[in-house]
Amino acid sequence: MRSRASAAVVGLAMAGSIRQKAELLAPFAGALLLFLLAGLSEAQGQQLLPVVRQPLIAWITAQKHAPADSLKNFETARSRRELFQALVAAMAGQDWAKARLLAQQLGYRLGMFHEANSAFAVASDDSGIDPIVIVNLNAARDVIVQAPHVPYERGTAEQAIVLLRDLRARAAIISGAHRCASRSFTMCNGMTSVCAGDAEGFRDSDVGHNTRTLFHLAHVVFAERWKNAVVISLHGMSKDHDGVVTSLIISNGIQANDAGGSTPATRLRYALAKAMNKPGRVVSCNVRADSKYNYRPLCGFTNVQGRHVNGDRDACRIGVTRGTGRFIHLEQDRSVLELYFEDWARINRYPIPAALSRSLSAIVPAIRD
Ligand SMILES: [Zn+2]
Repeated sequence: MRSRASAAVVGLAMAGSIRQKAELLAPFAGALLLFLLAGLSEAQGQQLLPVVRQPLIAWITAQKHAPADSLKNFETARSRRELFQALVAAMAGQDWAKARLLAQQLGYRLGMFHEANSAFAVASDDSGIDPIVIVNLNAARDVIVQAPHVPYERGTAEQAIVLLRDLRARAAIISGAHRCASRSFTMCNGMTSVCAGDAEGFRDSDVGHNTRTLFHLAHVVFAERWKNAVVISLHGMSKDHDGVVTSLIISNGIQANDAGGSTPATRLRYALAKAMNKPGRVVSCNVRADSKYNYRPLCGFTNVQGRHVNGDRDACRIGVTRGTGRFIHLEQDRSVLELYFEDWARINRYPIPAALSRSLSAIVPAIRD
């Protein structure tokens, strides 16, 4: 079952000291040479990135994350923000020569993974603070997958990669630091008890609730470059014990009823209900009739990526009552996410993950270039 435990932790994951880094680069140089000799059919420019011969999920789950309460604050210098913005734009434009130069300046590393008939360019740093950004060079659907609460919401990193691969999505963004890593608070509104036990403002390391992070910056670059792309934000919630068990709470991020069922989020709720036919197991924050299930209101209304892509003029402070509908906020209990965490290599054997990939594939738009 525990395919993640057997994953070989090699390559980019273990870099620590400069000497270690130099040692680690040696196998990549070999891999690069092999790739240059064998990879003549690859798109021009890809050869500029070292190939990592490991399953992308195994590599992702081996990355470190700054733990809770380990940082004084979560501020990023303006110069670093500007370089990072340029890096994400270069990756989106598949300008690998430029991306490499920018990554070097940022202390980011770039690698190329080949799997599922696609090539994935991955940018990450060693700090455990800043996000991992992944661009699919063979994208077919206009969708961006985000996991802002890794590692706290277990299984969401694995799920982001499964969806990136299965949907042939454009890109994925995965958080670096734990959402409670910083002891400082965000300027954005909303309350949570996840870090302290009692309700408090969101920490500034909570990238779903702070517009001044590199995670949000990557989101903005992608969502504004690909103007019709749907943004999927993946989350985990604790199990509910009373009454009807709700395993999935879906929202389009807009504080309004979606009576016509026109947004991708609402369509996903109806598609999944067919696969999960216990009443209340999957609900939508935008379907009034679902309120009878008395589910917890985990609807992503304060999520800043959702507010932004819904067209909010101040994603940090104000919610939206009307929006583009380009957002899917997905809250999931452990019965769903544990499958991704424990057995990602065989994930499509399980009915709910298979239904999620299948339903989303039918709902999110194809790329028309
Ligand atoms: Zn979350």
